[in-house]
Amino acid sequence: MLQSFQIIGYSGGVPTQDRGVTCVMVSTTNYDVMIDCGEGSYLRWQKAGYKWKNLKYILITHMHPDHIGGLIPLLFYRKLFGIDSLLTLIGPPQLKEYFEDCYRHSGLSNNQDLQWIDISTNNQINFQNDIHINTMEMKHKIPCWGYRISDSGKNLVFITDTLPNANAVKLSENADVLIHEATFTHNMREKAKKHFHTTEIQAMEIADKAKVKRLILTHFSQRLTDRDVQEWIWNGKSCIVFDERVEI
Ligand SMILES: [Zn+2]
Ligand SMILES: [Zn+2]
Repeated sequence: MLQSFQIIGYSGGVPTQDRGVTCVMVSTTNYDVMIDCGEGSYLRWQKAGYKWKNLKYILITHMHPDHIGGLIPLLFYRKLFGIDSLLTLIGPPQLKEYFEDCYRHSGLSNNQDLQWIDISTNNQINFQNDIHINTMEMKHKIPCWGYRISDSGKNLVFITDTLPNANAVKLSENADVLIHEATFTHNMREKAKKHFHTTEIQAMEIADKAKVKRLILTHFSQRLTDRDVQEWIWNGKSCIVFDERVEI
């Protein structure tokens, strides 16, 4: 069963002293799922109280450094801690080769039990204990995928680094929680378009069309202050949770 989510990194592009780059934890009754692993995710993940033994799946949206910069260090620390249980990594086709190249160039051997799933060829994946994953491709500068995580009753959708697009609406249909990027405010929509990102108003339109129950916004440009984003309300509720742990 899906239990909670926590956005442990919510800065877009560049981290700040207070905000890490993208990393989201989704906890189920039996294990945790990490989505994206930007630089610095390990320490934030550890500080939030997550444990190696529960980390069974890592989902990666795309290969930009603010989404994968913490992955090689995380896997290296996992190796140093001697964690050898199965970890499944799901993401773009280059992900496995990226890991193998980094390990090879660093003179590291892999003694962990890692399983790799290429989402360009697998858009439906079943996890342990009846958790299902659906993915759809988004529209970014490089290939990028959104994820829908469901159990028998509830679901959560995570979409980041994309222009507003029809797949975002389709993947989010009737979701209990949609976590969507809002890198720029709507008065910067030309800049958002140029960089293949979404504004807060565009994300709210997606939430409207998809009839989701709750919209949470993330991946903020460093120009946006906490106070700026705290004004974002959709359907009578705040779109901002920062890094608090929220029940699904
Ligand atoms: Zn990004
Ligand atoms: Zn990106």
